[in-house]
Amino acid sequence: MTSSFNPTPRTLMGPGPSDVHPRVLSALGLPTIGHLDPEFVSMMDEVKSLLQYAFQTKNELTIPVSAPGSAGMETCFVNMIEPGDKVVVCQNGVFGGRMKENVERLGGIAIMVEDEWGKPVDPQKVEDTLKANTDARAVAFVHAETSTGAASDIKNLCEIAHKHDCVTIVDTVTSLAGSELRVDDWGADAVYSGTQKCLSCTPGLSPVTMSERAVEIIKNRKTRVQSWFLDLNLVMGYWGSGKRTYHHTAPINALYALHESLLMLQQEGLENAWQRHMNNHLALRAGLEAMGLEFIVEEKFRLPQLNSVTIPQGVDEAQVRTRLLKEFNLEIGAGLGTLAGKVWRIGLMGYSSRAENIMLCLSALEAILSEIRADINTGVAIAAAQKQLGA
Ligand SMILES: *Cc1c(COP(=O)(O)O)cnc(C)c1O
Repeated sequence: MTSSFNPTPRTLMGPGPSDVHPRVLSALGLPTIGHLDPEFVSMMDEVKSLLQYAFQTKNELTIPVSAPGSAGMETCFVNMIEPGDKVVVCQNGVFGGRMKENVERLGGIAIMVEDEWGKPVDPQKVEDTLKANTDARAVAFVHAETSTGAASDIKNLCEIAHKHDCVTIVDTVTSLAGSELRVDDWGADAVYSGTQKCLSCTPGLSPVTMSERAVEIIKNRKTRVQSWFLDLNLVMGYWGSGKRTYHHTAPINALYALHESLLMLQQEGLENAWQRHMNNHLALRAGLEAMGLEFIVEEKFRLPQLNSVTIPQGVDEAQVRTRLLKEFNLEIGAGLGTLAGKVWRIGLMGYSSRAENIMLCLSALEAILSEIRADINTGVAIAAAQKQLGA
């Protein structure tokens, strides 16, 4: 007999989704109202201004796309790119590969700038590629590569792109609310994010913001946007001010959740949220390094919200993750692509970024690793993390 589904509560310290804050979960259960109800419409106006705060932008076209981060990615590409457009795509992990896929499916030409997994995008290579491709129209890159834990200097990359008359398409799925991001100051044009990483919200929505330059491109396209659902010319009529026309039914309750999570971000303060992610990263790092694990990303490019660390020699990493889940209800992430089997990815995103999670992760890892006689230092990790947290 099928019965109601009751998941075991877990602690989510992987690459996303991350722990959803109880306030956000409560918001999901509020009564559903109509998407053209005046109360809903005014809540959406607040969502827009809260998103503008999170992105640090005044962009009028700032909306939550009604689908996950990948749809935000697709929204940016499908609206900005026309068949035949040349796009410089930077790849230093999984997500740059998906950008390439987007460009090519749209009939665009992707010029790849590739960097090793775990390294940031190299601005010099981007500059050289733009010099060699003066007809390129856009440059696309990922701010926070969740597949490796490396941050790229998107401020610099935006500057280089603009110098060569290119617009920028920027993935901020894992950076939004977790590390410094200033859309307007840095001149990012078509920007997308997700709700399930550093916003402490449920998966399934994708905040998107478009600069005036991006909006001009969208309005002056020669060809129709290939996707009806993601065509921002149509979506603008739904989310824009003035008379709202029906486009699709908004995911009402999911948007209550986003509203609550953005409100929490505003109450905490954006800079404080960035700092919390950093402080907790430093504490986790102190513990992991005391244990003897090593970070694979060079310190100055390390993301505080995604920690990629080496696995002790001879350890079956999948078995350790299975035991963490079974015995401690703790989820951490595996390595992807060239890093598969070589690293664990430990997320400290959003509501997951808190002291009790760090302590659980360090003690659970130590318990399992010492039981299987892995080569680690025991009895030192918790103290090292405590010391860092108290510092
Ligand atoms: C998670 C993630 C995505 C995809 O988001 P989904 O919500 O899973 O579709 C895209 N880019 C980056 C950098 C991510 O971390």
